[in-house]
Amino acid sequence: MTQTTSLSDKLLLAATRLTSKTWPIARYIFPEKLEIDDNRALWVSQTPDYRPGTPLRANISADLAIIGGGFTGVSTAYHFSRRYPEKRVVLLEAKSLANGASGRNGGMLLNWLPSMYGYDLEMTRRIYQMTHAGIQMIADIIQRHQLPVSYRMDGTLAVYTDSRRAEAAQQETELHRQLGIPTCFLDVGALKQKLDLQGVYGAVFDPNSGQINGAQLVRSLRPVLQEQGVEIYEQTPVLAIQEGAALTLKTPDAEVKTKAVVLATNGYTGKLGYFQDAVFPLHAHIFATAPLNPAQLERLGWRETAGYSDDLDRIAYSSLTREGHIVFGGGSNQAYTYLFRNRTSCPNTLYSTKTTFDRLARTMQGYLPDSVNLPIAHRWTGTLGLTLDRKPLIGVRGERRNIYYAVGYSGHGITLANVAGQILTDLYSGDDERWRGFPFYQAAPIPIPPEPFRWLGYHLFVRLTGRSPRL
Ligand SMILES: Cc1cc2nc3c(=O)[nH]c(=O)nc-3n(C[C@H](O)[C@H](O)[C@H](O)COP(=O)(O)OP(=O)(O)OC[C@H]3O[C@@H](n4cnc5c(N)ncnc54)[C@H](O)[C@@H]3O)c2cc1C
Repeated sequence: MTQTTSLSDKLLLAATRLTSKTWPIARYIFPEKLEIDDNRALWVSQTPDYRPGTPLRANISADLAIIGGGFTGVSTAYHFSRRYPEKRVVLLEAKSLANGASGRNGGMLLNWLPSMYGYDLEMTRRIYQMTHAGIQMIADIIQRHQLPVSYRMDGTLAVYTDSRRAEAAQQETELHRQLGIPTCFLDVGALKQKLDLQGVYGAVFDPNSGQINGAQLVRSLRPVLQEQGVEIYEQTPVLAIQEGAALTLKTPDAEVKTKAVVLATNGYTGKLGYFQDAVFPLHAHIFATAPLNPAQLERLGWRETAGYSDDLDRIAYSSLTREGHIVFGGGSNQAYTYLFRNRTSCPNTLYSTKTTFDRLARTMQGYLPDSVNLPIAHRWTGTLGLTLDRKPLIGVRGERRNIYYAVGYSGHGITLANVAGQILTDLYSGDDERWRGFPFYQAAPIPIPPEPFRWLGYHLFVRLTGRSPRL
């Protein structure tokens, strides 16, 4: 563990330690900054030659300015610049491409939306078709541009930890098959052929899903975008947006005057003053093993699948890379932290870095008992953008309808954030018929209470619900 270095951090830490002896609540108010080794995701470590590009140093103007260099920002730059080669498109990224969740996720390339409750059969079919086309589009882009991206498409599992929920999932899968959705239910015996998990009662297998290294995808698209005329400025945080017929984006050294802007900032969007009452940042902890050989995977019981996720509210998920790394996240309150002042860990409490990662390992051992001695090579956190009903928000806003956004993927956004570029380009063009009616499209956000009620409400909820089923 590296230590915090700045004077303010040292003072904060001293205050935390002092106050935590006398007043436990203070530990939440002054938590420690997370310093996990170098907090570097496996995915980013597989792009060793990548260097962030130069920052914006002079004032410029643009037709479209995209803020954020993750899947949403890069996919928007990709589709928009192909549709409008004559327009000036700039992408501004605070740090480096894939700095956010797109370079820090669990790698599961999934169909569906984060929450699939309450839709009729027609919408269920449309959602599956839309995400399936999205996954195919990602694969097509990789092929078209010969991108060096490690991915696999041998299907993932949604596993059930309760016999009644497994039975309900089996019935639902039969209904889905009548809609042409090719998922199938696996009982415990069939599941073992793919993945030998303890404590589960069956699984739904989706053959049209897989696993992907998001950092490689986003970063290898940089030269493609530049070729298409997109100007990319990394190490360029947007500090403020001034609205008007022309928008002004303030960055540390220069301004961008632009006709339209895209908020592609997911869990960070509130800091720009947008969606503060609709999307809140949740820090998710996750680790990856060193690459395992086929004998180790067989001992573990991991045979023929790209990954799985469970049916609990603090969802546990795991994927297997083509190189043999097992990535594991979630499964407990500690794995998803929402601490006061947006910190990611808190010393000497349930939410310390050590407790959190110990807890993650225990959750994994619950499913895969032989994982107990596996070598852990990477541990990191990433910021999710959560909405109250877990519905993403994609659309356009502002008095002049020139502020486009795609945010709030609620931990299930690899596919949709890559589709977001198509959606926003169609919306800009007025050619958006095919997206109308989707639950995320121009949806009214559900307001989340302001702080400190949000923080109190969140903690009350997670303490009370524990290992509750996912809704
Ligand atoms: C730990 C974890 C596990 C996950 N696992 C999965 C999974 O297995 N499957 C799945 O489907 N989804 C998963 N997700 C969710 C998925 O990764 C996200 O939904 C998706 O990456 C969102 O992409 P994005 O481009 O919208 O946001 P991000 O990737 O977060 O990109 C936002 C970018 O904006 C930049 N930025 C922020 N503020 C500014 C500013 N002011 N100026 C300039 N730039 C700024 C950030 O640096 C960042 O690069 C996971 C997320 C996390 C954190």
